[in-house]
Amino acid sequence: MTTPEFFRAEISAWLRENRPPEPDILLPESFMEVGTDQQFDYLRAWQRKVYEAGYLGMAWPAAYGGGGQPQAMQDIVNAEMARQKVPFLPNTIGLNWAGPLILAIGTEAEKQRYIRGILNAEDIWCQGFSEPDQGSDLANTQTRATRDGDHYILNGSKIWTSLGSYAKYMILLARTNPEEKRYGGLSYFLVPMQTPGIETQPIRKLTGEYGFTQTFFRDARIPVDCLMGREGEGWKIAMMTLTFERGAAGGQAGGVSRVALGVGDAVELARTARRDGHPALEDPMIRDQLVRFMIEDQGDRLCAARGKIPALCSERPLAIPLSQKLRTSEHRRRMLQFALSLQGANAARWVGDANAFDGGKWQRAYFNSFSSTIGGGTSQIQANIVGERVLGLPKD
Ligand SMILES: Cc1cc2nc3c(=O)[nH]c(=O)nc-3n(C[C@H](O)[C@H](O)[C@H](O)COP(=O)(O)OP(=O)(O)OC[C@H]3O[C@@H](n4cnc5c(N)ncnc54)[C@H](O)[C@@H]3O)c2cc1C
Repeated sequence: MTTPEFFRAEISAWLRENRPPEPDILLPESFMEVGTDQQFDYLRAWQRKVYEAGYLGMAWPAAYGGGGQPQAMQDIVNAEMARQKVPFLPNTIGLNWAGPLILAIGTEAEKQRYIRGILNAEDIWCQGFSEPDQGSDLANTQTRATRDGDHYILNGSKIWTSLGSYAKYMILLARTNPEEKRYGGLSYFLVPMQTPGIETQPIRKLTGEYGFTQTFFRDARIPVDCLMGREGEGWKIAMMTLTFERGAAGGQAGGVSRVALGVGDAVELARTARRDGHPALEDPMIRDQLVRFMIEDQGDRLCAARGKIPALCSERPLAIPLSQKLRTSEHRRRMLQFALSLQGANAARWVGDANAFDGGKWQRAYFNSFSSTIGGGTSQIQANIVGERVLGLPKD
């Protein structure tokens, strides 16, 4: 049997030899900013290559296209991919929350139909939860799914649909019972995006990139077997989806879903950026702040590892998984804000400016860092969840 050290060396060599050549386009930082066909094709081909080499979905069941191997092996691959900063895998929603959800509660037919396409990037997935007037207040979902014989008819609109332009399927929360105003009237669907009556309209982001769409449903007829679970179970299934999305439950296929500038890059930036004629890194206040970010970074990593060992979490078992997204997304936003502050007036330069540090990537990364503090539930909502479910504070 292969040892972890041997396997790490194997995947490390494979990644070095097989990572795709640098493209002559600027790649997005995460699945939330895939806006051009060139970016999409490049990333999709990379995911397919990783899967075909056997390094994706390693711990998913072999019967559906996975590798049927221990999770620890996929963890090694993920860590090596992050370390080598190879491109991210674009089918993030499929690999990290739609796929694990289908494996956890889907029927045999659903597993057979969807899992392999998620892994080999043939079927890109998107998520239809947020609506123009309902984001945090998900239980107030208004998009309607009306039963009509062997079909449901969809009407309404979803918004901020990441990968909406490229997705073949959507996980959709819709109201099947308008009499039930909140949780009970909701149902969950796996919707083919090519259905007539479904249209997407790209939305431009703060950075100028196009990563998401508004999605319109106008009398779109989907077969009844698109319903996941039973009618009225949508809320329960949506909540389970969010535990995967927020990293509070394991079972993800693997890979990396963003290529991020990290605190190590900020240290390099501090060597180049200057304060009073000296490298910023020589300023003790800046060193102090960078060390704090490094400690937080390492703390988050160790916390995630500790969260996988129940004996080390017995006092507050939900504390680590439920605070994961809040901690990491806010840490990242603060770190990038600090990195920009190191650049002084140059912080105002943008991507493409020859005088911008690192081609303006810091500016783009800072603006994009707000994405994770909003998408998948805002930081305020995450803080409410920690307050109520971990600390036991009253709802009001
Ligand atoms: C980059 C990005 C990608 C996204 N991708 C997707 C996607 O693929 N699919 C999808 O369905 N959605 C997606 N979203 C949408 C995201 O889930 C919502 O934006 C988010 O849930 C917030 O909803 P909202 O925008 O309607 O804001 P609102 O809910 O209107 O919130 C406005 C403000 O009020 C605060 N607030 C609201 N309620 C409370 C409360 N109870 N307590 C304290 N503060 C509160 C919020 O924190 C926020 O600051 C994405 C968003 C972003 C930014």
